[in-house]
Amino acid sequence: MQAWRLHGAADARLDEIPEPEVTAGRVKIRVACSGICGSDLSLYETAPVPVDWPHPLVGQSGPHVLGHEFAGYVTEVGAGVDGIPVGALVAVQPSYEDGTCAACLRGEPNLCEQFGFLGVNGGGGGFAEYVVAAAAKVFVLPAGFTPETGALVEPLSVALHAVRLSGIAAGQTALVVGGGPIGLGLLLCLKAQGAQRVIVSEMSAARRELAAALGADVVDPREADLGGFVRELTGGLGVDASFDAAGAGQTTFDSAVDALRKGGTSVVVAMYHEGVNINPSLLMITEKRVTGSFAYTRDDFRTVIDMIADGRLDPAPLITSRIQLADALEKGIHALQSTGRETEVKILVTQDLEGTQG
Ligand SMILES: [Zn+2]
Repeated sequence: MQAWRLHGAADARLDEIPEPEVTAGRVKIRVACSGICGSDLSLYETAPVPVDWPHPLVGQSGPHVLGHEFAGYVTEVGAGVDGIPVGALVAVQPSYEDGTCAACLRGEPNLCEQFGFLGVNGGGGGFAEYVVAAAAKVFVLPAGFTPETGALVEPLSVALHAVRLSGIAAGQTALVVGGGPIGLGLLLCLKAQGAQRVIVSEMSAARRELAAALGADVVDPREADLGGFVRELTGGLGVDASFDAAGAGQTTFDSAVDALRKGGTSVVVAMYHEGVNINPSLLMITEKRVTGSFAYTRDDFRTVIDMIADGRLDPAPLITSRIQLADALEKGIHALQSTGRETEVKILVTQDLEGTQG
């Protein structure tokens, strides 16, 4: 089968590799749709996972297949797998946890000491024709789902986890800094949770337009005083919660914290390439909180599926392009490295399933 594998920094190749074989407790899936994530770009650019390092929970050396946001159709199940019929449309929670460390036992598996991702650390990935995943990580998608909406469950789970950590309640206000796939996913989840007002700060006009269409108050931080804009829309108080989905440096970090009301929470949902300065006294006086949010739990994944199924969440507007598997590097990753950032939100790699279930 064909699979995009990462051989090193800026070295992704469409390789011909054997189809993965299903074993006990595992499920073979024909991938139908796979999203390109900002983290795929980072992986591609810096290849932080050594090719010769087998993840302890996976036990495979690289090069690893890329792609961790995907949905597809079950083609085969291993011994002992119940409730996942052949032919079912499924999404996969692409995380590895050991289930035994202190974090896992506390109920915070996303903070597992041995955390890893399918599509990053081995075990196959979504930028391939087939993938085999543990049945416990495979979710049969309810009626109404398509492979496209199924592929968006993963990034929306990242967003929902962050929204939950913020402690925001119905009727409250939020600021989202950065209107990319995660930022707009935050907007959708905040609205679904009953946020009264969500302000999105974003430089790209196309992304601002989409955010506005999805119900946000939008602002270009280069054109307006973001803090003033936020105070004007929140009765001078500031927002109850803010989300840093840009990770663009000191200015981004400060604007997310400054926009908060006293006692509000700012959640970092972006990778920073360098450190920032913090004035702890300011946090002391205001009881503002700053926290990070990493990945998701099984319950986040389950809840996103339920919210899409019952209509509280509609992720379809986030899809801006559809490309073929063979074009994933050129029209996907390379496009997002250049001008695509201005116009794209979510690029989906869709596969022609002629001759297979689908
Ligand atoms: Zn663990």
